[in-house]
Amino acid sequence: MVKGKITSLAVKDVRFPTSLGHHGSDAMHTDPDYSAAYVVIETDADDALKGYGLTFTLGKGTEIVVCAVNALSHLVVGRNLEDIVTNFRDFYRQLTSDGQLRWPLWKLLVDMTPEQLVSCIDFRYITDVLTEAQALEILQNGKQRQETREERMLKSGYPAYTTSCAWLGYSDEQLQKLCADALQDGWTRFKVKVGADLQDDIRRCKLIRDMIGHDNKLMLDANQRWDVNEAISWVQELAAFKPLWIEEPTSPDDILGHGTISKALAPLGIGVATGEQCHNRVMFKQFLQARALQYLQIDSCRLGSVNENLSVLLMAKKFNIPVCPHAGGVGLCELVQHLIIFDYISVSGELDNRMCEYVDHLHEHFKYPVTIHNAAYMPPMDPGYSTEMKEDSVLSYQFPGGSVWQQLIHDKRVEI
Ligand SMILES: [Mg+2]
Repeated sequence: MVKGKITSLAVKDVRFPTSLGHHGSDAMHTDPDYSAAYVVIETDADDALKGYGLTFTLGKGTEIVVCAVNALSHLVVGRNLEDIVTNFRDFYRQLTSDGQLRWPLWKLLVDMTPEQLVSCIDFRYITDVLTEAQALEILQNGKQRQETREERMLKSGYPAYTTSCAWLGYSDEQLQKLCADALQDGWTRFKVKVGADLQDDIRRCKLIRDMIGHDNKLMLDANQRWDVNEAISWVQELAAFKPLWIEEPTSPDDILGHGTISKALAPLGIGVATGEQCHNRVMFKQFLQARALQYLQIDSCRLGSVNENLSVLLMAKKFNIPVCPHAGGVGLCELVQHLIIFDYISVSGELDNRMCEYVDHLHEHFKYPVTIHNAAYMPPMDPGYSTEMKEDSVLSYQFPGGSVWQQLIHDKRVEI
């Protein structure tokens, strides 16, 4: 058992000027600077254990998240690590009602007993669809042949798809080159950003479908661009390209609207994917109850804790809906890989129609970046949640005083 006390918590505003290269651009977010509120927790443990965490934003939003982290820090600093580890649920409730470890997170979760896992979850507000007893049963069933699945993960990894070939701001030539490179590297699942201009979307979808052929999978992402009826008619125009799903077709809060779209597109064999903006288990509960999504896209940062993610993975299993996590942004690939590997080994036990997003930007700033092999996430073997950034990166990209931002400001390439 880990010993020691949390002695300090520091939060930094780290921003990468991705908008200059149109990385991350889509129909709604034309100039995102992928950014993070980056937290470092220090302890007085014998091995000088430290904890790292981050929350992704598109730039200015980090200022708000930094304020929130500072406002909650008194609940963390001074706490005994043993008290936290022996009662994760109480600690989680304190953090979310106010008004981390020496092995990879996925392995920590996989090796916990069903009883320990259930004790991490706050079932308040979701017992009408998932009780503690039902969650326990799912996890007990998940223990069967767990070793076989763990061996499979360690050998072959978790299937991934790429979003990095077809950002909306990329030219057709750039899209073609990136797509050709990805095919060469063994990628078989591709996502295209759509929603700004229908004729552009038709041209881009044709281009990418012609390149990848019909044996590979194609997904579409509208990033909340349309109204409900507009979403249905727009996607009908793109149905000829046989997309597996349309992601975020409308407002991420419109649960019933997603239900209407799901019903209209089902005869075309196109599913609705959403969830990257869902902020808690209650939203996911209602999406599942309303049969309003066919692919559930948890975002490990948006959901605000490992605990909250666990409750959603278990609800998805109960409704037999595949989890295909959102993994764009700073460190999201690094974080969510732990959860999806745990989901396969201990909860769902399935890989059919399941894949985790991969976005090929900014991994060089992390001490333990994801390892992709044959278009699959290989289980991380380094301790922790893979969130630790390189010190040089934090210094260079801290906003606005870091050297990268100071140079951009000096060159008048950005305004603050
Ligand atoms: Mg998306």
